[in-house]
Amino acid sequence: MIKDIIIEELIIVKVDIYIYTKGGELMAYVISDECIMCGACEAECPTDSISEGDSKYEIDAETCIDCGVCASVCPVEAISPE
Ligand code: SF4
Ligand code: SF4
Repeated sequence: MIKDIIIEELIIVKVDIYIYTKGGELMAYVISDECIMCGACEAECPTDSISEGDSKYEIDAETCIDCGVCASVCPVEAISPE
């Protein structure tokens, strides 16, 4: 429960940062070939930036706000900052 609240607050802060720095230096997260296509990251992304690709899930760099939530739920640590 507390973890959920902390994650929620983190997302809010990150969204605020994104709004103020849009077009700035924030980097998108990326998914490696280690992805086992479990879908956990897609379900948690606050901006719906993750979708299922042919052999792994993919992140849309244009909409990713670099919040890191996806990386925190990936069971095989396949997600990292670009
Ligand atoms: S870091 Fe991950 S969860 Fe956060 S916006 Fe980007 S793709 Fe979505
Ligand atoms: S949580 Fe990790 S293993 Fe699951 S779909 Fe996302 S990148 Fe792939």
